[in-house]
Amino acid sequence: MKVAVLGAKGRMGTEAVAAISDAKDLQLVAQLDLGDSLDQLVTSGAQVVVDFTHPDAVMKNLEFAITNGISVVVGTTGFDDAKLAKLKTLLAANPKVGALIAPNFALGAVLMMQFSEVAAKYFESVEIIELHHANKVDAPSGTAVRTAQMITDARKKNNKAKMPDATKDAIAGARGATVGDVPIHSVRSHGYVAHQEVIFGDPGETLSIRHDSINRAGFMPGVLLGVREVVKHPGLTVGLEKYMEGF
Ligand code: NAP
Repeated sequence: MKVAVLGAKGRMGTEAVAAISDAKDLQLVAQLDLGDSLDQLVTSGAQVVVDFTHPDAVMKNLEFAITNGISVVVGTTGFDDAKLAKLKTLLAANPKVGALIAPNFALGAVLMMQFSEVAAKYFESVEIIELHHANKVDAPSGTAVRTAQMITDARKKNNKAKMPDATKDAIAGARGATVGDVPIHSVRSHGYVAHQEVIFGDPGETLSIRHDSINRAGFMPGVLLGVREVVKHPGLTVGLEKYMEGF
């Protein structure tokens, strides 16, 4: 399969270029970065484009690829409902094309979210601590927000009561930022890459589900899975778990 990488000189793009080059069943046909013409996607015969660029650039890239019949695997973040709706419209006009939007390509992180969703109905309390490198510009992380939403939906579905919390007096921020039902605590420090712990509690026991991304190479098995599967899944797919067995 012929694959192109957009954002090829970036931190994630560099890893994607290396991983695709090493994969025997994939052929890297184009490496584009800021300023390169998207026409190369067509002239190189790319069947799949991997995008690790920038939230402001990604939609233009995807529109070009999809209207030219090229499937897309997207790691770039910042997809809101409006962007997803636009993608659906583009894909409806190009029904053979697949698009995977994956907020997190680390297989362990995807499993952490799925396991948390399963655990949510069994525990009264749940909080998230996410820890990232000091250069990260957004807080909480997209993965933490998504995990909190999944846990909240599972709690609603199972009629869980409001979480116990006797706090009456607190310094602003001490109880974290709440997404849905779930407080999220964000740590930013040198020494971290991307880490998250989901802590569940009931009287007499806690359960911690923790994932650690040690380096960016850890995202690549998920990227390669996305590349291999996206051509078999026309239309829009959000979340790598949709391509994983058991979910
Ligand atoms: P990065 O190091 O800044 O790399 C982005 C690269 O894309 C840069 O080389 C940039 O060029 C280039 N670029 C910008 N606009 C472009 C365009 N229109 N066409 C082609 N290339 C363009 O960032 P990163 O750390 O690799 O992260 C990239 C994205 O992936 C971010 O949105 C990040 O949040 C996301 N991410 C996702 C996952 C996941 O698992 N889904 C994991 C990590 C990161 P310049 O430097 O010249 O601007």
